Amino acid sequence: MANISRRTSGLSRKKLNRNKNSSLNKSQNRSLRKIQPKGRSKKIYSRSPFSNLVTKVGILFGVVLIFYMIFIFEFPANYPDKFKVSTMSLDSKEMTMKIETDSYKGKLIPLEVLLTMSKGEITLIGEKETTIIFSDNKKIILKEGSRKVKIDGKTHKFNAPVVTFEKLVLIPGELAEELFPKKFNFDDGEIAFTLSEDLPEGDYQNFEGYDGYLGLVNRDNPLPEDYEPTDLVNMNTLKSITAYGTNTYLREEAAQALAKMYNENNIGYAMTSGFRTYLMQTQLFNEKVAANISTGMTEEQAKENASTVVAIPGTSEHQIGLAVDFSIPGVVLTEEFKNTVPGKWLSENSYKYGFVLRYTKEQTAITNIIFEPWHFRYIGFPHSEILFKEGIVFDTYIKILREEKVKYFKDEKNEEYIIWLLSGLLKPENFKFNTSNGIGVSSDNGEDIILTMKEK
Ligand SMILES: [Zn+2]
Repeated sequence: MANISRRTSGLSRKKLNRNKNSSLNKSQNRSLRKIQPKGRSKKIYSRSPFSNLVTKVGILFGVVLIFYMIFIFEFPANYPDKFKVSTMSLDSKEMTMKIETDSYKGKLIPLEVLLTMSKGEITLIGEKETTIIFSDNKKIILKEGSRKVKIDGKTHKFNAPVVTFEKLVLIPGELAEELFPKKFNFDDGEIAFTLSEDLPEGDYQNFEGYDGYLGLVNRDNPLPEDYEPTDLVNMNTLKSITAYGTNTYLREEAAQALAKMYNENNIGYAMTSGFRTYLMQTQLFNEKVAANISTGMTEEQAKENASTVVAIPGTSEHQIGLAVDFSIPGVVLTEEFKNTVPGKWLSENSYKYGFVLRYTKEQTAITNIIFEPWHFRYIGFPHSEILFKEGIVFDTYIKILREEKVKYFKDEKNEEYIIWLLSGLLKPENFKFNTSNGIGVSSDNGEDIILTMKEK
């Protein structure tokens, strides 16, 4: 299994952008105007010995002109001012997207949709044109602003051109239909496509609002003050978990995963902290600032220091109910936890249950949070295994997905996954998914949607 190279993918996008206002059509138009007066030259009617030659040249120009008009000339593409997926739904095997655009209504789809159709390696080569080579060696060449696409050397002309809109490369929907005739269906802006021949049964992450399990919460991606998950479970009702206090909550899927981890492994840890409201986080933050000031720091220094130890309100993963702090008696929220039996076990094994060590020692410059060997975040499978195997933190993972768009992963049990990020397409508030199939859907707390699909 291979990936689209981050660099070539980015390159081709840039290259496509650069060609956005290609001067080719304009210069072709100019040459067109130059050619016309010659063909109608009055000299044709003179008795000059060159008249025959002039006539022949005129005819030749005419023929070239007609050839040019039919085979080469294209009206410049209209660039859309708007492109939006207004609804998106998943239904057993099909995904349906309702697309709103001001140009080429219902005829444009994101290039990503096409790329998801091909399993295995996709190579993108960006020069003046973008060449995509699929794993079965099918080769297509796209040119910014052009309705013509070469498929295995043969030119096909479509009703819509290849155009760039903000971060997205949009392609004619008919091209997808041409390449994957049984998988695409277009009807007036509504596009339905089969994601996989046969989707497996399995757990499915319901998605709504900020409730995505892959929501990135940090300084650059804060939460609204009033956000609170709706499916919190009191951990004390899951008898197996020892939690200090009586009001420790996690979101249901994370709570169930934690209970499973606890039941299958006798590690002897306890939960110190789960869900926290924005208000609770504000109190913790203010307490830390006050403590810092009492040591002689200025208010500014006190706040800066506090922000690396206690997340700034709105940037804490505890507010989304997916973060858990572990401890053992006598070792509560100190770095020493990394040397304890549970501390070591959790950092090496919790990924099997969908958890990751969120704030590592090596990547504090990326997370902006000190090393917290006690703080684990639920992101679900296979993402937790990817982070563990690749040694990256969650911030980096989302950054890579935003750049690469498609990721293939084979886990320890040889199960294969496709992770697909649809960028800038829609606001999370706009849609819901049903829960009856094996696809995980999550926002990343930005404008992206991440689909996690398990291959058969
Ligand atoms: Zn924590």
